[in-house]
Amino acid sequence: MSERHVLTINAGSATLKIGVYRAGGPGGTAGDPRQLWRIKIDRLGSDEAELQASGADGQRLGRRLGRRSHAAEALDDLLDFLGEAAPGLAFSVVSHRVVHGGPELHRPLAVGPAVLDVLRGFSPLAPLHQPHNIAGIEAACRAFPDALQVACFDTAFHRGQPRVNDVYALPPAFYDEGVRRYGFHGLSYEHIAECLPEVSPRLAGGRVVIAHLGNGASMCAIVAGRAVASTMGFSALDGLPMGTRCGQIDPGVLLWLMQSKGLDADAISDLLYNRSGLAGMSGVGADMRTLEASTDPAAAFAIEHFTARIRHETGALAASAGGIDGLVFTAGIGEHSARVRAEVLRGLRWLGFELDETANEAGGRDHDGDAIRRITTADSVAEAWIIPTDEEAMLARHGLDVLGSPEGKGRGG
Ligand code: ADP
Repeated sequence: MSERHVLTINAGSATLKIGVYRAGGPGGTAGDPRQLWRIKIDRLGSDEAELQASGADGQRLGRRLGRRSHAAEALDDLLDFLGEAAPGLAFSVVSHRVVHGGPELHRPLAVGPAVLDVLRGFSPLAPLHQPHNIAGIEAACRAFPDALQVACFDTAFHRGQPRVNDVYALPPAFYDEGVRRYGFHGLSYEHIAECLPEVSPRLAGGRVVIAHLGNGASMCAIVAGRAVASTMGFSALDGLPMGTRCGQIDPGVLLWLMQSKGLDADAISDLLYNRSGLAGMSGVGADMRTLEASTDPAAAFAIEHFTARIRHETGALAASAGGIDGLVFTAGIGEHSARVRAEVLRGLRWLGFELDETANEAGGRDHDGDAIRRITTADSVAEAWIIPTDEEAMLARHGLDVLGSPEGKGRGG
């Protein structure tokens, strides 16, 4: 059988992350798909978008792109890059991260026009992502018409959470109509949960809070690897403040905005999704690197609020999990901001966390790149870890699984 290749597409709010994989382990042996290229287009929405690519053979390439408004626009840059870096590469499957799968779609599946129609219906629930995810699928269908297109849902990991944490205190008819706590970042949580047995057997069987801190940010409690509760709910707005999103807010504020300020739904949506969070609070920017470099007191205050909210949610999620054995930091801020991790953990001694300052400063990188690191002392009662997320690896595996299932048979070359 000829070699099968997988393309993974992860269109975030400010980044487009791509993986190119070959099925099987090194040399075509059985095992996890092997990554050939990792490509990231960063700072979308600014005038400074850039493409960075690293290859399995140590190649490193960077390219300034200038202004790119969103992920679908940047996909053309990616196709140009692949045309040069890996000419003639044929993909059997293109596996897409899709933020919202609604109440029914709780496993990866092949996408055709009918599924795309269903996914479009969830766009109002995740306007920063779902339209880009769909545009990515449409673009990939055009670029790779012979490949199987697979959608993997960020909501899927949470679908098994207990009903008591899945509902709002509304009449049940709303739940039946789909007004539920979906939770997001599920591919990232699934990856972390799969890492835990090797990282710490105690945590793999225990009560863990995972903090996925990127431009979008959420936290999830897992017990013995299974989702119990999440800070995100019906939409990707709830929970922690994010780059430009408000996070948790009293619904009374929305009523006040409508009734006293005369704002309509579009204006409120723009405020809550695009003009709030770290950017809105600080007036300096949405990007944690920009905030950390700023001398503006409003930037420092936005970081202080962000870390206070993470501590608050850690306590709440620990209550949902019946205690806490470990806290995992992941995604851009979680992996790279020693300041955020330190501010969080210094305030969590009461939960048994004893920060190891040196390990924390060393962070989630070593000479080989991303690294898993424990950042609490050896005698700390509870453990804190940096575990780099890898949504792309999950996408590649799920894509191949669907390709090998009856659903994918005879498809994808
Ligand atoms: P997305 O949610 O779009 O996938 P990421 O997980 O890549 O985003 O996270 C992006 C966030 O990570 C940005 O706020 C960025 O500033 C932050 N970040 C990346 N590198 C660093 C760093 N070295 N120090 C502090 N923050 C960082």
